[in-house]
Amino acid sequence: MSSDAAPTSNFIRAIIDGDLASGKHRSIATRFPPEPNGYLHVGHAKSICLNFGLARDYGGTCNLRFDDTNPEKENEEYAQSIQDDVRWLGFEWNGDVRWASDYFPALYDYAVELIKKGLAYVDDLTPEQMRDYRGTLTEKGRESPNRNRAIEENLDLFARMKNGEFADGSLTLRAKIDMASPNINLRDPVIYRIKRAHHIRTGDDWCIYPMYDYTHCVSDALEGITHSICTLEFEDHRPLYDWVLDNVSAPCHPRQYEFSRLELHYTITSKRKLLQLVNEQRVDGWDDPRMPTISGMRRRGYTPEGLREFARRIGVSKSPNIVDLSELEAAIRDDLEARAPRVMAVINPLKVTITNFDGAQTQQAALHPQQAEFGSREVQFSKEIFIEADDFAEVPPSGWKRLAPGGEVRLRHSYVMRCDEVVKDADGKIVELKCSIDHATLGKNPEGRKVKGVIHFVSREHAQPAEIRLYDRLFTVAEPDADKEKSFLEFINPDSLTVVQGWVESFAATAAPETRYQFERLGYFVADRRDHKPGERLVFNRTVALKDSWTKGKG
Ligand code: ATP
Ligand code: MG
Repeated sequence: MSSDAAPTSNFIRAIIDGDLASGKHRSIATRFPPEPNGYLHVGHAKSICLNFGLARDYGGTCNLRFDDTNPEKENEEYAQSIQDDVRWLGFEWNGDVRWASDYFPALYDYAVELIKKGLAYVDDLTPEQMRDYRGTLTEKGRESPNRNRAIEENLDLFARMKNGEFADGSLTLRAKIDMASPNINLRDPVIYRIKRAHHIRTGDDWCIYPMYDYTHCVSDALEGITHSICTLEFEDHRPLYDWVLDNVSAPCHPRQYEFSRLELHYTITSKRKLLQLVNEQRVDGWDDPRMPTISGMRRRGYTPEGLREFARRIGVSKSPNIVDLSELEAAIRDDLEARAPRVMAVINPLKVTITNFDGAQTQQAALHPQQAEFGSREVQFSKEIFIEADDFAEVPPSGWKRLAPGGEVRLRHSYVMRCDEVVKDADGKIVELKCSIDHATLGKNPEGRKVKGVIHFVSREHAQPAEIRLYDRLFTVAEPDADKEKSFLEFINPDSLTVVQGWVESFAATAAPETRYQFERLGYFVADRRDHKPGERLVFNRTVALKDSWTKGKG
């Protein structure tokens, strides 16, 4: 990770610099607090890079804390996937994984403290009544008839809520703040509810669960977090965060800072909608390479370094962070450019017979034009080769540099070849070319003429068949969930996946799953994590094309 480019400054770094310079803090402690109710997506990757990146850059710590206060939606699979994703992105949390549920006893005691201070009360308003009493943005709320219940009675009722004497939803504990506040979050928010739900960590120990806003600030304080960083939608919750910490005897008072969430064009970053794609089998699971999930991007062949670079490039601020997918692809492409060995593959094969093959030689070719340490491999050649069907034009358009009848091209890392004859089937479809090579051109320019075009090829005798998965954007519009009238599902791109049968040079056939290559002229590819079995079944996913075909032209 030391190879990462220097971090770009942002307002949060400026705050931290100030806090360290003034002596307010001697070191920093951040946290990443996902709810284990789904797989993480590219927006979470931004938050991970921010929180863990700050800890790394300032020599501080970052905790991984599961926000597990909604037992019905949470499960172990999600919790495990989140840990895998954070580690895969290149980060390690401080100590053990934390769970908000570890603090349920402390949270209960602090709630009792609030009751004793006259700052919380048990209420029996129904959800409808509560909504009605809460008021609106333009209208003050009204006080619940239970608001001035005696402290002793509140203590007794809250203990009995905990002991399971009341039905789910029949009572709540509310903070007693201000029903007339212009900030609706301060109009006596519910901090505990009764819910008999089995919890992944605490099982059936509790039938009351603390609400997120109450839990989060207390958890931060118990962990000694210095800078509690979240997305802007929590800005209006900050006064509640501070109110709770001002009124319970927590060990410290962390400060909350908000930044704008990443919104990526041509994709969605809502866990609920991603879950819908999975549940309705619109995609092949959470790690489908078209998904913006971290596990999907991993399976697609994105690199942790490329994602960290993307996070660095998009920066952190309070202004809208709406980014085109091409920016993400550019960061990945730039990383793969340096990292991926070059080999050859043909995805739409046209057979070529070399009529004067006898005496042909092979040569070694570097696996990377700049990185000599990647080594080299022999570029195999045989009497029959495959070229890309698109690299031949029977009637070439003007300016055509690739193969045409009677014309010559350089076979990459091999000979100059001339097309002598086009073979067609009964329907007139081109099925084969008969070509001849210039034996004097292996590693040398031809004598007395220039050959401009270079095409890739594989040796038919040596190449291995491979399933090649070509991906396109999952949605046909930049903002699939912007239209209030239509479901985002209507904008799924029907051509987001194309599977073809191609051929890869034998060097790539032994690749372990998750090995990345540049298939020359075709793009960056990765051996599929799930389905690729070297020696049995080769499956390569196209991670990204070599050039951005969207911002210019198509898009
Ligand atoms: P939910 O609706 O389930 O709460 P969420 O996307 O907020 O969804 P969390 O698990 O609560 O999911 O998120 C963990 C952290 O990731 C939070 O601190 C949240 O602010 C941050 N985060 C989530 N989405 C984005 C995003 N698009 N850009 C940046 N940060 C994000
Ligand atoms: Mg959330």
